[in-house]
Amino acid sequence: MIEVGILGATGLVGQRFVEILVNHPWFKIASVAASERSANKKYASLAKWRLNSPVPESVAELMVVTPEPKKVGDVSLVFSALPSSVAGPIEERFAKDGYIVVSNAASHRMEADVPILNPEANSNHIQLIEEQRRRRGWDGAILTNPNCTTAILTLSLKPLMDRFGITRVIVSTMQALSGAGYPGVASLDIVDNVIPFIAREEEKVETETRKILGNIGTPAEFKVSASCHRVATLDGHLEAVFVELKERVEVEDVIEAMKKFKGEPQELNLPTAPKFPLIVRLEQDRPQPRYDRMEERGMSVVVGRVRKDPALNGVKYLALGHNTIRGAAGCAVLIAELLKVKGYLS
Ligand code: NAP
Repeated sequence: MIEVGILGATGLVGQRFVEILVNHPWFKIASVAASERSANKKYASLAKWRLNSPVPESVAELMVVTPEPKKVGDVSLVFSALPSSVAGPIEERFAKDGYIVVSNAASHRMEADVPILNPEANSNHIQLIEEQRRRRGWDGAILTNPNCTTAILTLSLKPLMDRFGITRVIVSTMQALSGAGYPGVASLDIVDNVIPFIAREEEKVETETRKILGNIGTPAEFKVSASCHRVATLDGHLEAVFVELKERVEVEDVIEAMKKFKGEPQELNLPTAPKFPLIVRLEQDRPQPRYDRMEERGMSVVVGRVRKDPALNGVKYLALGHNTIRGAAGCAVLIAELLKVKGYLS
């Protein structure tokens, strides 16, 4: 088994890491780290567990440490679920000390030598690690997964880009509360309400999407316009997507391209890969967060209401994905699996 650590293990994304990794066939959780507030306490005593499954026994007894290499100890890889406000220098310290870091934080995503990987969409960007090591002179590496909204969006766009070409994308989101971490948005702000602003989210969607769907070092040519909104669902971001395409298409062709879509994780049969990255629903009232977010253990994006767009030469549709699984911990674990089969982990 390959021993791994989780930085930010007590937060919402950190808990998802614990849940996904505890029965993983290749990885074993050897270390959990969080802030000074949590350090030197047993993981289970930190009590703010917010998942339906119980705290796994093998992790409950682990002592939480602060996120420093010497405290996290001898593991091959660390998953980071630290807030972006602190993640940058902490992740660099680990990479300098030879660790491979797979991060959920935004801190390093837009740096030229750091890949943002959504494995079905751009697994080839993993080779940026070599350039990063050369430039920075470290033996470790920093890889990132996309912002949650971007992870869902790029998965749905990839087969359309490959099959028909994209000229522009407009997306309007309805994002779940768990996307704001714990305790997140105050109940008095969100009950009976929609908040039409999420700090820095639109910029992330607009830039990360083009980096992921572009070639290494060259963002995709099309422009992306995003409007992001917080709604009172617990998990699962729903996105209304409007795509202008280079070719004239029929709705049936778009549905077929999405249904057939598979990437390298499916070809390699990686343990966390969903059988189908995109599931297309044909009912007119799906996808819905409550019913559809856990498709394929939360790793598939569910698309519905694919129809022609009368204002653009293209289509519009709804895409739904689990923000802390496909959009965070699940995607990061998929990246780690890719690293293993490509020989970067021992
Ligand atoms: P969260 O619930 O607020 O958890 C934050 C974690 O970081 C906790 O374990 C916390 O430990 C630790 N932490 C906070 N300040 C720290 C410090 N100064 N030093 C060391 N550890 C510190 O946040 P989250 O929702 O899990 O998000 C984690 C990261 O993933 C963020 O960068 C976020 O942007 C990103 N992300 C989140 C989602 C999502 O849907 N939630 C999706 C994609 C990406 P304590 O318990 O000790 O405070």
